Amino acid sequence: MSVSATTTNLLGLPRPELERFVAGLGSKPFRARQLMHWVYKRAEPSFELMTDLAKTFRAELQEQACVRAPQIITEHRSADGTRKWLLRADGSQAFEMVYIPEPDRATLCISSQVGCALDCAFCSTAQQGFNRNLTTAEIVGQVWLANRLLAGTVADLARERAVTNVVLMGMGEPLANFRNVVPALDIFLDDCAFDLSRRRVTLSTSGLVPQIYKLAEHSNVALAVSLHAPDDALRNELVPINRVHPIAELLAACWHYIDERNGRSVTFEYVMLEGVNDSRAQARALAKLLAGRPAKVNLIPFNPFPGTRLRRSGPEVVRTFRDELLRHGVLATVRRTRGDDIDAACGQLAGRVIDRTTVRLGSRSVGMVVRA
Ligand code: SAH
Repeated sequence: MSVSATTTNLLGLPRPELERFVAGLGSKPFRARQLMHWVYKRAEPSFELMTDLAKTFRAELQEQACVRAPQIITEHRSADGTRKWLLRADGSQAFEMVYIPEPDRATLCISSQVGCALDCAFCSTAQQGFNRNLTTAEIVGQVWLANRLLAGTVADLARERAVTNVVLMGMGEPLANFRNVVPALDIFLDDCAFDLSRRRVTLSTSGLVPQIYKLAEHSNVALAVSLHAPDDALRNELVPINRVHPIAELLAACWHYIDERNGRSVTFEYVMLEGVNDSRAQARALAKLLAGRPAKVNLIPFNPFPGTRLRRSGPEVVRTFRDELLRHGVLATVRRTRGDDIDAACGQLAGRVIDRTTVRLGSRSVGMVVRA
């Protein structure tokens, strides 16, 4: 298929926009549904093969549109079935997605930006700095690509299935790319596209408070928040955006989101760092913040990466921390680490970011490396 710079990538268009696009080609808007069936249900990128569409319509599409997923640079497979793909953004820029098969579901962890500007102390993506936002088509294209790659293998590999859950927990801060992320969420949920229930799509944020309020107006996907500390002094160090939006503000935004969107609970991610945030007293302080609220805590054993001085809390410490939360009435689970033999675990997604830029967020500057 010839693809010129002026063609529209259909993976970037939520249904209302696709309907307008189709109308612009002189077809009835309801043709958009038929088109979506081919694109999303059958993962078919070739207009020529969409045989029940009128020939003239196909010719128009051929001319003006494309279905283009990000290009794969490399793939790694873990012994536990986890697969990680490095995908091309542009030139030598790259980002990653990770597929995590489990007996009852298959989760795709996708990226929302190339690099990240948030500068969290324990995250390998942060070390790369920020390059650019992914487009809606690049965000949607990750799920499309995984489905296309994996759907055909279902019969061969019993453990693998096409994607049932999507988590925006790869590279980047999704709420810092609000404009492109929200239309992608719409496409994940649209019954003509991926038709995922809102509980099977999770957006994870480091805590961009104004955007959490804005998200409540536009979407109702599950919300996960990277808390990582029970007090502002420590969170300022671990998650620097806390200096702009401290814990009390962040939690108020979370409860608003749940009320507004009629969600069940917010998941609070808490990376377990030895001697930093893993004491019993810190567990009690965390419980005090969350008890009686629609909250659950997901404890993530820290995944080390080259150059970090931080260490993972021992399993006994993690269990004690979890039990302390449970004793104080806060639901808590420990995330099983997957794919760490291929650096596919949380916080290990490095991608490839060449030009790092300074980005201003709130009143302070983050992602401070500037390179020509
Ligand atoms: N920017 C978003 C989503 C990306 S990270 C956010 O901050 O939520 C997804 C989760 O992995 C976040 O909770 C993040 O804090 C956590 N994480 C980052 N680095 C990690 C590491 N090295 N080990 C374990 N978890 C990590």
